[in-house]
Amino acid sequence: MTLDPATLPERTDVAIIGGGMVGLSLALLLARSCPELSVVVIEAHAFSLAGDLEQPSFDARCTAVSESSRAVFEHIGVWARLASLVAPITTVHVSDRGKPGITRLEAAEQGLEGLGFVVENRVLGQVLMAAVSNCPAIRIVAPLRVERLVPDAKGMVIESGDQRCLASLAVVAEGAGSTTLEQLGIHTRVTDYGQSALIANIGLERPHAGVAYERFTDQGPLALLPLPDAGGEHRAALVWTLPPTQAQELASAPEEVFLAALQERFGYRAGTFVRRGQCSTYSLRLSVAEEQVRRYLAVVGNAAHFLHPVAGQGFNLALRDVARLVEAVVAGWRRDLAPGDLAVLEDYLSGQEGDQWQTILFSDSLPRTFATGGALPALRSIGLITLDLVPALRTEFARFGAGLAVRAARLPRFAGEGALP
Ligand SMILES: Cc1cc2nc3c(=O)[nH]c(=O)nc-3n(C[C@H](O)[C@H](O)[C@H](O)COP(=O)(O)OP(=O)(O)OC[C@H]3O[C@@H](n4cnc5c(N)ncnc54)[C@H](O)[C@@H]3O)c2cc1C
Repeated sequence: MTLDPATLPERTDVAIIGGGMVGLSLALLLARSCPELSVVVIEAHAFSLAGDLEQPSFDARCTAVSESSRAVFEHIGVWARLASLVAPITTVHVSDRGKPGITRLEAAEQGLEGLGFVVENRVLGQVLMAAVSNCPAIRIVAPLRVERLVPDAKGMVIESGDQRCLASLAVVAEGAGSTTLEQLGIHTRVTDYGQSALIANIGLERPHAGVAYERFTDQGPLALLPLPDAGGEHRAALVWTLPPTQAQELASAPEEVFLAALQERFGYRAGTFVRRGQCSTYSLRLSVAEEQVRRYLAVVGNAAHFLHPVAGQGFNLALRDVARLVEAVVAGWRRDLAPGDLAVLEDYLSGQEGDQWQTILFSDSLPRTFATGGALPALRSIGLITLDLVPALRTEFARFGAGLAVRAARLPRFAGEGALP
């Protein structure tokens, strides 16, 4: 890796705008699958290889990484490092607070090591950055904020202050609320869920045994995901969906008040909650960019689609997207097509649209179904009981969550096994 504090190269094959979880993963995928391409990542925050990471991607959240993401991480050579830093989900326990009907999904029943692998974003960031820093093909320009993208006859011109860089392909991986999309006149369709996600790591009195809990309550879903022990403490990651004011109040409440409220909502299935880590809140909305590709331009990650976190699909979908994008870029390269050729980008999108819509629909319908009153609670209970009783349905559900219900990207690997050089 070349780390360039603030100087853009004059040209590059691919420029990735945003060095968050998705941007860095894409850079590593390109370096692994098509090392002939020059790749620049431009990140607004300082890029640190040690200590705290400044990028918002790598904050106090945790991510449940699916089987499809594990395969991508293996491809880019970071899974060997990550495997000891994640907690595999061996069981998912789904319930509806105060109503009959629960269902359990078991990884062993599906022949999987885990139905997901939970990692702290901070840890994921450190592993991705270490891999990027070992990769001479990737140039990082940070801290530098991209201000404008201007289409040109030969590519996309990336502008920041008085600097310019011509890229055959500019990939916007800026996260939700991308200013560059706005400047390009690409609109996003936004549906506000009117709720916030309150996140915190929780200390547990007893081991979690790999169980993830998804509990639907009348205020919204509450997920408790297993985390690796730290300093002898058993831990779980909480994602608690609440009305925004309540989420704010709880986030600033004293620890004992917070833990009592959580215990009252969740019950004692996971034992007693003994500690609360750093708390943050996120406003929840579904936002989908109306265009994801143009000549010389692709939009990925949260900039393309920001989902409700209830199903833990946002990053996993984004990783499948960028893997399919790289598959299309490599296939085009072999046919002498530049990475930003519209045929390459349309090929990518037409292959990946089905996965995107299925996942968006699922992540959107889950919180809506479980948030509604009327006759739905009874139907939900029937649904959960049916899922618990019918193995074929459980398999479908588990395969979907693991990202195995869709075709995986076919990616060549040039840099050998293990971590990227
Ligand atoms: C509470 C919560 C829990 C979640 N849990 C899960 C889960 O369990 N599983 C899952 O799959 N997904 C989960 N997600 C979704 C996941 O967090 C997102 O999919 C992921 O963060 C998207 O990353 P990104 O790189 O696209 O965007 P971001 O993380 O927002 O990163 C964008 C980067 O671009 C940089 N940037 C922005 N503008 C510019 C510019 N103009 N110039 C240069 N740089 C710029 C920013 O500084 C930042 O570093 C969760 C989300 C939330 C809110």
